[in-house]
Amino acid sequence: MAADLKSISYSIIIPVFNEEAVLPILLRRLDLLLDRLHEPAEAIFVDDGSRDSSPLVLQELAKRDPRFRYIGLSRNFGHQIAITAGMDAAQGQAIVVMDADLQDPPEVVEQMISKWREGYDVVYARRLSRAGESRFKRVTAHLFYRVLGSMSSVHIPADVGDFRLIDRKVLEALRQMSEQDRFVRGMIAWLGFRQTEVPFHRLERVAGETKYPLLKMARLAMNAALGFSDAPLRLAIWCGVTVSGLALLYGGWVLVLWISKDRHLVAGWSSTIVVVSLLCGMNMLMTGIVGLYVGRIHAEVKRRPLYVVQKRLGFEREQATPAHSAIRAVHE
Ligand code: UDP
Ligand code: MG
Repeated sequence: MAADLKSISYSIIIPVFNEEAVLPILLRRLDLLLDRLHEPAEAIFVDDGSRDSSPLVLQELAKRDPRFRYIGLSRNFGHQIAITAGMDAAQGQAIVVMDADLQDPPEVVEQMISKWREGYDVVYARRLSRAGESRFKRVTAHLFYRVLGSMSSVHIPADVGDFRLIDRKVLEALRQMSEQDRFVRGMIAWLGFRQTEVPFHRLERVAGETKYPLLKMARLAMNAALGFSDAPLRLAIWCGVTVSGLALLYGGWVLVLWISKDRHLVAGWSSTIVVVSLLCGMNMLMTGIVGLYVGRIHAEVKRRPLYVVQKRLGFEREQATPAHSAIRAVHE
């Protein structure tokens, strides 16, 4: 096992969903990339339940060429799960996740690898520009990263997708995160380690259509917001406090009018409004409090590890986890 792990330096994971149009170009570019890497590398295609000829092409390739591997999921599980399946199978010391449509240029992978050689554990690619994407997608993506950044309890870099390189030890830590609704880029940010970026210009899709329609994008955004922030849960509390506060202020004012026998006071109506809005506010407040408990349950069921150790020194060898000792052998 250990010898096996050491023999492959790089794993390139490519999720594929109905990408027959891009495959010929992708395979040519990948071939060139793997040749240029000068070290043993594997490319893992994860077929995410494609209904076109992609699985056939990729299976043929995997039979012919040992550098290419194929994993076929039983149905469409979504991009994030496909990436996870690829990561679970990766054997390299550095693992790169890349889209199939060549919007993530393979040449950037070489820059990522040189950063990794400098000692960084996570190298993500930051998009300086996005060509060929609709105005709507650009605006929503821009907003998404900003809102998420302000809500999230960990720093999730903006304008960074899943195109990134991670070191084997980050992968081992990621595998301990067994949550169901996965937002992989957030999970890697949560893990920490030494992170850096490589800027790049995101190109147009070489062929075919996007496989991320609005609904899938919305689901990803929802997973990100719910998995990395409890701000939505606390929203009810703040609404409740605001509504109750306003109701109390209004109630005080009504009382003043009543005492001063102001003729503007509508009998019956004002007191009803005060009571209704106060009850509404209290209701929201209570929902918010329940939300706090739900938040705790949510955190528990995610089953994230409590902490992640980057390095251990001075322990007996057998106490160190195999993954960490394997990595140290590479870096030292
Ligand atoms: N993809 C996938 N499963 C899905 C949707 C997409 O494996 O359910 C893959 C797709 O084949 C591509 C990558 O995820 O390799 C990114 O998808 P796409 O390029 O369509 O997204 P966009 O760049 O438009 O956001
Ligand atoms: Mg794309």
